[in-house]
Amino acid sequence: MKTQRSFAVRVSSVLLILLVTWSGAVTQGPELPDPGRVGMTKEQQEQLGLKAMAEVYKQMPVLPDSSPVTRYVQDLGRRLETVIPSQYSWPYQFHVVQQKEINAFALPGGPIFINVGTINAADNEAELAGVMAHEMSHVYMQHSAKQMPKQEWAGILSALGGLLGGGIGSLARAGIQFGAGTLLMKYSRNDEAQADSVGAVIMYRAGYDPKQMAEFFQKLEQQAGNGGPQFLSDHPNPGNRVAAVEKEIQDWPSRRYLATSQQFVNAKQEAARTKSYSAQQIADGAQRGLWAQQNVQSGAVPKGLPVDESEGPGSRGGGTLNNVSLTQIRPSSSFTQLRGRDFAIAYPDNWRAFQDSNSGGVTIAPPTAVAQGSIAYGVIMSAATPNANTLDDATQDLVQTLEQSNAGLRATGSPRPVSVNGVNGRSVDLVGTSPVQQNGQPMRERDWLITLPRQQGDLLYVVFVAPERDFDQLRPTYEKMLQSLQVR
Ligand code: ZN
Repeated sequence: MKTQRSFAVRVSSVLLILLVTWSGAVTQGPELPDPGRVGMTKEQQEQLGLKAMAEVYKQMPVLPDSSPVTRYVQDLGRRLETVIPSQYSWPYQFHVVQQKEINAFALPGGPIFINVGTINAADNEAELAGVMAHEMSHVYMQHSAKQMPKQEWAGILSALGGLLGGGIGSLARAGIQFGAGTLLMKYSRNDEAQADSVGAVIMYRAGYDPKQMAEFFQKLEQQAGNGGPQFLSDHPNPGNRVAAVEKEIQDWPSRRYLATSQQFVNAKQEAARTKSYSAQQIADGAQRGLWAQQNVQSGAVPKGLPVDESEGPGSRGGGTLNNVSLTQIRPSSSFTQLRGRDFAIAYPDNWRAFQDSNSGGVTIAPPTAVAQGSIAYGVIMSAATPNANTLDDATQDLVQTLEQSNAGLRATGSPRPVSVNGVNGRSVDLVGTSPVQQNGQPMRERDWLITLPRQQGDLLYVVFVAPERDFDQLRPTYEKMLQSLQVR
């Protein structure tokens, strides 16, 4: 049996959000709020952002800074940036992704990416400035740092950085590869309301009509289709965006707002001529390593991005996790639903799903339990194409493949029948070596494998992973996940 290869994870949530405005030398009028305190330093946020940015350049086609579209967006960004008081500002940088769908995202510490599709969709400069101001405001308010503690970010970034390896994690070597674009994290509606509110101040101070920002989002809502939903699913509508901005600005001194510039018109024409790709094409290209190559060749990759030392097949050893314990990863009893192309599963809402839009494979894990290509707690789902006539043989073949690719892994019994929502599958217990260390020694790991035949003739397999010590405490969670699993 061959396990299916390739499996790029989409981290559109690692891809965070924000926004700001430019300076029209306003002496009166609204001030930007105090962004508040977070557990991460500025430097830590910036470093995380740069690491995530390095992933972006592997996962997406990005225009080089020499592109007229990028130059225009960067000029606009500078104009917005100058209205932010320096003590609250960030090293903002602006780049354009060659993607058709309307979207934009911000990384911690300042990098902001705008899709070509967003520029195409903007009817005037203020609308585009509004998207950028909104993204800048997510950074300004440090929403990503407020949403996740540092150790979670560290887990996510190392997950992004390479293949899973070590322990059962090197299952992933056969099936699962993390990339940027699929980490499922979203801004809350409260974050959205804040980003609109801060964005409105930035807009005003930079000379743009703040209402244009909210109206653009409302327009996306009405259009649906054409990528609008993607932006709105990353940036959920807090409700009455336009009314909220109108209320916010009602007492501000009236001022004359900037009209659309000729530069905007030119950049929009340029954007319409720029080669852009669908989300699906981008995911496919990322799997083939196309964008990493293209971004280097075009000179799009900014200098000074952190180098990923884990490139290349087989170059990665298993990581270790020294201080992960059950208390840190304890699953929430509240579950959230993940729908893949041909499966659906519920999982604890304080864990994260890393999903590959091409293969449909998924890893679901607490971010603190993923490091350096290893997963200590969580669930790996992938597909295998059996070269066997019976489910028992196919399962045995898979077990053998897993044992061969995971040193120390072995089955402790034969496959037993199991029924999952009416589908007859097999269940196998395995033991292996956990990436979690105790007194410098790896702990024993328990892995619970479920195989399920699918209509198209392949096998969906699911592996529930935990150190042996903790497995029984997680079993109810894993059983609840399994009970929710639907395969098509
Ligand atoms: Zn947002």
